[in-house]
Amino acid sequence: MAESDMPKFRVAIVGAGLTGVFLAVCLEKYAPNVEFDIYEGASQMLEIGAGIVMQSRPWTMMQATGLDKDLLKIAGDGERPAVVVLFRKSDQVDGFQFSQQTDTDTSYPFHRGEVHKAFLDRLHASDRIHLRKRFVSYVQPANGMGPIEVRFQDGTTATCDILVGADGVRSAVRASMYSQLAQAAEAEGKQQEADDLKHHISPVFSGATIYRTVINKTGEIAAHPAFNRSGLVFYCGKDKHLLTYPISQGRILNVAAVIRVRDQEGDIYPGPWSSVVNRDEYANEFKGWEPDVGEIVKHMDNAQKWAINVVTKLPTYVDGRVALLGDAAHGMGPHQGAGAGQGFEDGFLLAQFLGRPEVTRETMQIALQVYDEIRRPLSQKVAAFSHMSGMLHLLQDPERISQEDEPEHELTLEELRKIGDKIERVKDWRRVSSLLDESKVSMQRLMDAVSTAQTR
Ligand SMILES: Cc1cc2nc3c(=O)[nH]c(=O)nc-3n(C[C@H](O)[C@H](O)[C@H](O)COP(=O)(O)OP(=O)(O)OC[C@H]3O[C@@H](n4cnc5c(N)ncnc54)[C@H](O)[C@@H]3O)c2cc1C
Repeated sequence: MAESDMPKFRVAIVGAGLTGVFLAVCLEKYAPNVEFDIYEGASQMLEIGAGIVMQSRPWTMMQATGLDKDLLKIAGDGERPAVVVLFRKSDQVDGFQFSQQTDTDTSYPFHRGEVHKAFLDRLHASDRIHLRKRFVSYVQPANGMGPIEVRFQDGTTATCDILVGADGVRSAVRASMYSQLAQAAEAEGKQQEADDLKHHISPVFSGATIYRTVINKTGEIAAHPAFNRSGLVFYCGKDKHLLTYPISQGRILNVAAVIRVRDQEGDIYPGPWSSVVNRDEYANEFKGWEPDVGEIVKHMDNAQKWAINVVTKLPTYVDGRVALLGDAAHGMGPHQGAGAGQGFEDGFLLAQFLGRPEVTRETMQIALQVYDEIRRPLSQKVAAFSHMSGMLHLLQDPERISQEDEPEHELTLEELRKIGDKIERVKDWRRVSSLLDESKVSMQRLMDAVSTAQTR
């Protein structure tokens, strides 16, 4: 093989979920001389869960990679140019609307299994996906550019120049990274720092439990107003809310009930994260609410329960030539429907960085550092906004410092309207920035960092 045909380096991606496969698609487009392998722990490619919404920022990346056409061909209801969002105070019999908003950010609702399939179909090197390869740990040479050793549960190993952990919110790559960082801090006698680093190994319970299901609009409910509102409706009460929106050309109502469990927030979640549960588990929570809520809950059968676990705010996404991406780096609550989009942004940027001619075996570590400096603050800001949205939907104002500051009285209309205004403002980040403009600035930052390192 001529030297010019040789891959400039080899990337191992752990996890073939939405973000791992999207990174691979981006590497094929933006870094064709970088070789990659994807190691997936499962024995087959399966995406569980129902819907996923792509807003304009992720959609820009689908257009840039040509995936937009594939997605529109196989999936979705097409473009949703503007959505009316209603907020009601519903934890009383005579519920009322306190805010009406129009979300003008174009969005595309999809079935997540179909998105995953579209990504996989686009991948030319699908033979580079290795199933039943459950990552356990990595060994990175302390100095120099020797290969990183990747270890799997079945006792086998692989090597690479760059290791990317795209293995989800329970990431074993993150666990390996933060165990090693903590050990290094301990070896230097920095016990407090080591304890802080260990805190990032496991995800923690966000305090939110979500019950999701769909209701087919047939029979007696077909004409009922609660099942025929066109946009999103949030039925809010203290520490709980119900969200409904139509899918499949209005034939089906998508429903999610969110219940906050305050005393377990921030703990390691004890039970299974997801299970199908009986209506009794959530129906009682909405007793005494306005009649439309009772009517919807009555038809919520076989809901899927999700305990929402999140990644703590990491001090770094990178250790030498190992990087975290997607939920492994910033698993967040679903309250802004932005988690996967943030993972796509990680992959979009990382692949473009690795494809730059200036990024070589000598400079790849600098590229990962700049990736961390750019992606960590942005994705953590979105995670914080998502948390704020989640609280506001439960009629809690996250700007109140502690629980003691929460008003004991029923919220006044003025207080509710302020909450409505804040709900609108915490989504502003999607509108005020352009992903492609940000990409240009990021490339310049990378070039500056590489040239500074080379002149040292
Ligand atoms: C209820 C809910 C609704 C949501 N709605 C939206 C939405 O509308 N829009 C949006 O943008 N986001 C949404 N999200 C967030 C989105 O689902 C996630 O951000 C996204 O799926 C993360 O993808 P990922 O590839 O990083 O991780 P995952 O999807 O978790 O994939 C990780 C992959 O790694 C594999 N793996 C795990 N451990 C190992 C190991 N040790 N070795 C090898 N392989 C391993 C897994 O099998 C899996 O294939 C929602 C989340 C939830 C919970």
